[in-house]
Amino acid sequence: MDLKLFNTLSRSVQEFAPLDPAGKKVGMYCCGPTVYDFAHIGNWRTFVFADLVRRTLEFSGYDVRHVMNITDIEDKIIKRVRENKTTLREFTGKFETAFLDDLKALNCKEPHVQPRATEYIAEIIALIEKLIARGIAYQAGDGSVYFSIEKYRGCGCNYGQLLKLNFDEMRAGERVSSDEYEKESVADFALWKTRVPDDGDIFWPSPFGEGRPGWHIECSAMSMKVLGESFDLHLGGEDLKFPHHEDEIAQSEGATGKPFVKYWLHGAHLLVEGKKMSKSLGNFFTLRDLQAKGFTGREVRYLLLTAHYRETFNFTLDGLAGAKTALARIKECLEKLVEFLEPNSPRITVDPDIEIINRFKAAIEDDLNVSKCWGVVFEWIRDLNRSMSQKNFSSNQAIIAIATWKTLDLVLGLDFEVKAPARVRDNTTEMRGVVPATGFAAKIEGEEEIPKEIQKLAMDRIQAKNAKNFQYADILREQIRSKGWVIEDSPKGIKLKKL
Ligand SMILES: [Zn+2]
Repeated sequence: MDLKLFNTLSRSVQEFAPLDPAGKKVGMYCCGPTVYDFAHIGNWRTFVFADLVRRTLEFSGYDVRHVMNITDIEDKIIKRVRENKTTLREFTGKFETAFLDDLKALNCKEPHVQPRATEYIAEIIALIEKLIARGIAYQAGDGSVYFSIEKYRGCGCNYGQLLKLNFDEMRAGERVSSDEYEKESVADFALWKTRVPDDGDIFWPSPFGEGRPGWHIECSAMSMKVLGESFDLHLGGEDLKFPHHEDEIAQSEGATGKPFVKYWLHGAHLLVEGKKMSKSLGNFFTLRDLQAKGFTGREVRYLLLTAHYRETFNFTLDGLAGAKTALARIKECLEKLVEFLEPNSPRITVDPDIEIINRFKAAIEDDLNVSKCWGVVFEWIRDLNRSMSQKNFSSNQAIIAIATWKTLDLVLGLDFEVKAPARVRDNTTEMRGVVPATGFAAKIEGEEEIPKEIQKLAMDRIQAKNAKNFQYADILREQIRSKGWVIEDSPKGIKLKKL
């Protein structure tokens, strides 16, 4: 496995190696939506990026646990609940549902765990108590609890891991109570905000008095509860680097004394029509706005995935029209391939085109170089179109090409429906999440079915070989043989035959 990612902690591209000693399990946390409005296209860039990271990890053979929280208590939410004269749950529930619908429309895989901040109040309080016990947090005169930057640094901890801060300009003891602030005003920040009349009936009891959590502590509490005190990956938009992520590190490492996250990944900003998105400029779009203009979630996803995640991306309506054309090229090619399939062709064992898969894999594993990936895809499509026009294109070649597309699409997530003739089936979906170094067999009905158990052993053997664990691979080959099947390696992948 040779995945490389840019880690904001080291400011460099690093080889990815998970904390799991077996090198298999990966914990990944992405800061989720603050559910006070519909998510805009800038937010969506981050969530599509997170989906790409997850799919790439799975493509590389990792077993990912993807966590995305729902921020359902925070300054902006309280303000809107008050303005709308509604209840917290009713208000946030509406936007949470809309968010999850949009996430689906963009073909993003649903995160495995979606914790809501309001359901983790006990964990948040326990974390604050830990920080108070260690002398890093204190209750101020107004009853709110603050994180002391000075005390934290005094313990030998590092504040300013994700960006450089000028501490000479800071005055010790200054405090900031709002959830969002600039790095120029870096100061002790609120962990627990004491109840004020504007909060209405939104408050919880706590050992520090009635109140509610600050935004930053929510993510520390939820991520550590679900993924453990140290985990592999934390993602978000670069606007969250400071103060949100820096404060998450401080709260977590301050409480546990352990490194919080091994790799921090940040997606760059999005411009719309060359300018910062704003409602007054008329360049502010939610996914729903774009759908109303006749664009699909798939087109939006494609356009967002054409740029490298660390580059500022200029999102335009012209670009979306271009996305429509590009996707039509892929779809047409897939439809043509299906026409070449012969339902009654003899038994075939099909593997994707390993050369294409390997070129694609090398590009995506190089810090998610998507432009190179699209280059591989469109060059391959051009070659396929040329071959198909030359009449000697076979059903077998068409099946290989379809299997290849399905493998690439595990990462791209465009999810075109490829309708094959009724008698040809394949089991590629069974192989999701497994190293696609190949080996799924297209099967013709009436032929000997490859039992699931044998398929599983075969895929384990591919993974063992990829991990250069040849001894284990040989053991698996013997196991397969003992169950009446023989495995054959070929440059195109593996074949399974009944003994
Ligand atoms: Zn967060």
